[in-house]
Amino acid sequence: MDELGAEMYSVHHADLVCSLYKLATNAGAQINFGSRVISVDNETATVTLGSGKTLKADLIVGADGHQSIVRAGLEPTRKEKLDINYTTYLFTIPASRFKDDQEIPRLLGDARWYMWMGFGWGMSMFGIRNNTVLSCTLFMNEEDVDVSVDWKSQVPVKDLGTEKLGLTPIKADSATRVKVDRENVPEYWYDSSGHVIVVGEAAHASLVGTVHSAALGIEDAAVLGRLLSKLKSKHEIKRFLSAFHEIRHPRSERLSASEQQKVDFITLPAGALSEARDESMRLQMNEGQGDWSASEDSFLTRSWEEFRDAFGYDAFDEADTWWVEWGVLFDRINGSDNSVEDDIFSGQITVERERHACTPSI
Ligand SMILES: Cc1cc2nc3c(=O)[nH]c(=O)nc-3n(C[C@H](O)[C@H](O)[C@H](O)COP(=O)(O)OP(=O)(O)OC[C@H]3O[C@@H](n4cnc5c(N)ncnc54)[C@H](O)[C@@H]3O)c2cc1C
Repeated sequence: MDELGAEMYSVHHADLVCSLYKLATNAGAQINFGSRVISVDNETATVTLGSGKTLKADLIVGADGHQSIVRAGLEPTRKEKLDINYTTYLFTIPASRFKDDQEIPRLLGDARWYMWMGFGWGMSMFGIRNNTVLSCTLFMNEEDVDVSVDWKSQVPVKDLGTEKLGLTPIKADSATRVKVDRENVPEYWYDSSGHVIVVGEAAHASLVGTVHSAALGIEDAAVLGRLLSKLKSKHEIKRFLSAFHEIRHPRSERLSASEQQKVDFITLPAGALSEARDESMRLQMNEGQGDWSASEDSFLTRSWEEFRDAFGYDAFDEADTWWVEWGVLFDRINGSDNSVEDDIFSGQITVERERHACTPSI
């Protein structure tokens, strides 16, 4: 990560939400809690709230998650059933519960991600909140379980039967159990009138508990914000929405496919494939491929390219590159005089790239 210049944060979901809330409200955003949108009119760019109140905007950004009501209004949609055959269990454990443990405190001190793979399951672990808390994600191959559960579903960890997987008893109380099935994927993330766009999980399904699930939404926000900061007239909005789709769609597809592959790999059921997996990893370890300085060039190149693509991505740079390549060109073709419409930025808030410290509250 250092060599890529990549910023990688392992953050408690509650702390992330808290940081984003502070950033947005400090910048002037108004957040109305308990205001459910019950319908969206793309033509007039109007939303109706559960209270009956209507709100009109120049642009509606649907960041309303995997069951997005905004996405439902986008046409045409392509039917696509995600082939997810595993369930994700997420839980945190206070590190203090391991004070007499020989291994965990040492692993936490290394500031790395750890991964365990079994037959039909895989688990990752890393430290959060200055390593005072362990964050664990357990992927279980549960093909036969035909349920869709979201972040509100909690199960006692003692009911997971992890001893049967060969794990020592897990010192957590409860786990969040998530399995999200998504069928409708919009062909385009914006509507034909240029009044509506979807971002985050409203736009692209992410694989629960994988490295980029939340990061993809943050990257979306960075790219969309940067593009819209170049607006000179409301007539240009649709062009920028199309640019957003062009920049973000391939990346989310690529990352989702790569994350799906990784989860499939670590949750392989017992059999020839999982045996081959374990054997090849043993071989790699024995040949020093766990140690990059001793690895073969071809292995290094492959690994480097994969890491560079996934983690060396700079969302602001992507938006700037599009602007330099295409935005300026469009301006020239259209003979834009660089003047900005009077009210284009009225009421707009700006959140700059910044690091934000949030006091954790457990
Ligand atoms: C409660 C919760 C806990 C999570 N915990 C973890 C975790 O521990 N680890 C992890 O890896 N990932 C976690 N995630 C998921 C992960 O972070 C997602 O990838 C990320 O949250 C996606 O962000 P998003 O903004 O696209 O959608 P979401 O985070 O789902 O946000 C959508 C927002 O839109 C609101 N909304 C939806 N419909 C409407 C409507 N009709 N009107 C008004 N508002 C609406 C929702 O209330 C929500 O606030 C969690 C997600 C949630 C929702």
